[in-house]
Amino acid sequence: MNESTIFKQIIDGEIPASIVYEDDQCLAFHDVAPQAPIHILVIPKKEIPSIDQIKSEDKELIGHLFLVIQTIAREQGLAEDGYRVICNCGENGGQTVFHLHYHLMGGCNLQWPPGSSAPKENC
Ligand code: AMP
Repeated sequence: MNESTIFKQIIDGEIPASIVYEDDQCLAFHDVAPQAPIHILVIPKKEIPSIDQIKSEDKELIGHLFLVIQTIAREQGLAEDGYRVICNCGENGGQTVFHLHYHLMGGCNLQWPPGSSAPKENC
C-alpha cells in the first residue's frame, strides 16, 4: 500500500488546510507557501498521482476542475486582471506532492517565464 500524500490527509480531514471550496469531487485550499498574493491549490478527491496517470474515464473530472478554478478565480477577484494555472508533472516538472493539483495564482502581474529570478515584490 502506498503511503498517503499530504493532500489525501487534507481530503480526509487528518491535517488542517485553509479551504476555499469543496464539493463531492474536489477540494481547494490556500497553498501553505504562497508564491503570489493569491495562491490556491485545486485537487481532485480521487487519488490521481499526476497528469501522467490521468485516464480517459477522468475526462469529466478534469473538466470539472477547470470550471471550479474559473469559479474560484472569479470569487477571489482574479478574473478581470487574469491569473495563471500551473500543473507540475513529475520530478523534472517540479512536482513535490504526488496527488494531482492545479496551482491557481494571481493578484499581481506574474513574471514569465516561471522560475525567472525576478524579485518577489514584482511578483
Ligand atoms: P508541487 O511542487 O507542484 O507538487 O506543489 C506542491 C505545493 O503544495 C507547494 O506549492 C507547497 O507549498 C504546497 N503544500 C505542501 N504542503 C501543503 C499543505 N499542508 N497545505 C497547503 N499547501 C501545501
